Amino acid sequence: RTSMLSPGASANLVTFDDVGGLDKEVDQVRELIETPLMYPHVYDHLGINPPRGILLHGPPGVGKTHLARAIANEIGAHFLYVNGPEILSSVQGGTEANLRSIFEEAMESAPSIVLIDELDAIAPPRRDTGHTDARMGTQLLSLLDGLVSMEDVIVVGTTNRPEALDPALRRPGRLDRELLIGPPSVAGRLEILRIHTRGMPLEPDAQTWLPELAALTHGYTGADLVNLAREAGLHALRRHAGPGLRALAASGHDTAHVLVTQDDLLHA
Ligand code: ATP
Repeated sequence: RTSMLSPGASANLVTFDDVGGLDKEVDQVRELIETPLMYPHVYDHLGINPPRGILLHGPPGVGKTHLARAIANEIGAHFLYVNGPEILSSVQGGTEANLRSIFEEAMESAPSIVLIDELDAIAPPRRDTGHTDARMGTQLLSLLDGLVSMEDVIVVGTTNRPEALDPALRRPGRLDRELLIGPPSVAGRLEILRIHTRGMPLEPDAQTWLPELAALTHGYTGADLVNLAREAGLHALRRHAGPGLRALAASGHDTAHVLVTQDDLLHA
């Protein structure tokens, strides 16, 4: 089962402080997840079924997975990560068995959040698929239906292509809440840049020019901004070491005084 869990899924303790530019979305997802998991009696009182599943959709790299992980950590729920394409097993019947064991663990360790990343990989519209996939879609639906009766498990699916999902999955009682996560605004990009440069040795006047960089990076997702910060760090090292980066590192030379400058970020 380890191969289905993302590396560091539990070690990597993402919190709300690590999520930038998604305040409204954090509140919405939190309400959809936290209330049914932690305070189910609210729904009993109203005589309605609490939400069981949420679909987060939007372009790659905007932080759908990141957000779900932060929420699980913040509310102290057990978090299970399933990567859609990775769980697809070549062994016939293997995928169903994998899913079943994940859902069993979710029930045993409840309250739990099961995140199924790239859900479209395992639940395409049934008319589009061959025999095996069609059976799997049915299996997933019946597993989800089983979860409907569980008070303390929530399924969060993510996809870049909501139209490529079996519509039956989006019916009431299944993943019936949908939230679009879009690319960040300029204010969001600034928050994300601050988060991902927190651990970097930026030159002292960084705060004055990070907003400029946020303005310049229209269309960048969170994942793009992570890459930008990493590239800037590498550029600072190369600038310092010239062509001899390997020799510099091998010599044990002190790099403590290397600062990442505006030029490094602009270059990246
Ligand atoms: P995909 O559809 O490709 O799975 P995704 O929307 O789930 O993408 P993530 O995998 O959550 O995106 O984002 C990739 C990485 O980018 C995260 O691990 C995180 O470091 C960073 N990131 C993305 N969005 C944000 C954000 N809003 N705030 C902070 N970091 C972010």
